[in-house]
Amino acid sequence: MAHIILKRSSFFHNLDTITATCGSKEKIALVLKDNAYGHGLMEIATLAAQYGISKAVVRSVAEAQTVADYFDYILILADTTPATNAKFHYTLNCLEDIEALKVPCNVELKVDTGMHRNGIAPEDLAEAFERIAMKKLRLTGVFSHHRSADALSSEWFWQRHNFEQIKSDARALQKRYAFEPLSFHLNNSAALFREGSCRDDMVRVGIAAYGILTLERSLTKPTLQPVLSLYAHQIASRTLRAQERIGYNGTYTTTTVQTVSTYDIGYADGFMRSYAPRFRTPEGLHVLGRISMDNSSFESTQKELLIFDDAQDVAMQGKTIAYEVLTALKPHLKRHIV
Ligand SMILES: *Cc1c(COP(=O)(O)O)cnc(C)c1O
Repeated sequence: MAHIILKRSSFFHNLDTITATCGSKEKIALVLKDNAYGHGLMEIATLAAQYGISKAVVRSVAEAQTVADYFDYILILADTTPATNAKFHYTLNCLEDIEALKVPCNVELKVDTGMHRNGIAPEDLAEAFERIAMKKLRLTGVFSHHRSADALSSEWFWQRHNFEQIKSDARALQKRYAFEPLSFHLNNSAALFREGSCRDDMVRVGIAAYGILTLERSLTKPTLQPVLSLYAHQIASRTLRAQERIGYNGTYTTTTVQTVSTYDIGYADGFMRSYAPRFRTPEGLHVLGRISMDNSSFESTQKELLIFDDAQDVAMQGKTIAYEVLTALKPHLKRHIV
């Protein structure tokens, strides 16, 4: 069966690099949303705990519950389903979320510093504090998110500036309401490596831990190692004459005698149709014709074929981003840690 290999040494290397940049393991909140970017939620949670990571970021309460035993702190990005776990911290993405949550629970306030996706407007900060106090929620942090940390533009500085203003306003409000000291965090992977250090209480790191980071060419890039490789197994093999056509609609025509094998990987596994026809394996094998639901064809006789070991290459071939390539990989693919 097609399967995924996760390299522990690469993951730990990336975490070493992240730790060296942000100053300490305690400052890392590892982003595990969406099945740990397709790597496998339990597999990555286990490895992270072994490494000594104590903080995680997830999308849903269900994800938080799955990994609750592995971490001391879990930030839930977008789910207000009630749960009674003192480690969970719910994100307030808008003022209405304050009413939606059931007390007692920890909350973190997301503030919109310019991305205009989630978070309250900076001018609503005082009102948010007032409502949080009235509702008796436990406010533990205030955070925001960069929209263009990977691009060489002034937006990066503008959002950092806005966040510093939010920090100082929030500190004053925290004192006024006699809340406990707040944790502030802004940076994702690209922002951390752009900044080169951590000036907040925490960083929310996803893609870099998985060994991938795209930054504009003039920005210095750390050496990271992709953690995930995808392998497929040979289902059948045949030798075709020249001028025979392969797969749905026969979009590939053999040019000479070719030995072609079908492998058990297709778009139902997350190996998307749009990757063809530009897709090539790390060994340089082109996908021949269309990628089908459970199959794709390569000129190879190998029993086990390495499909990819760097999602960034696939992203370029498929005209997308590595995040999409990774999160497309379905949970049914078996993950093995080596
Ligand atoms: C996904 C996400 C991150 C992680 O971003 P990377 O680029 O993968 O490091 C951080 N913060 C928030 C709010 C996110 O949604």
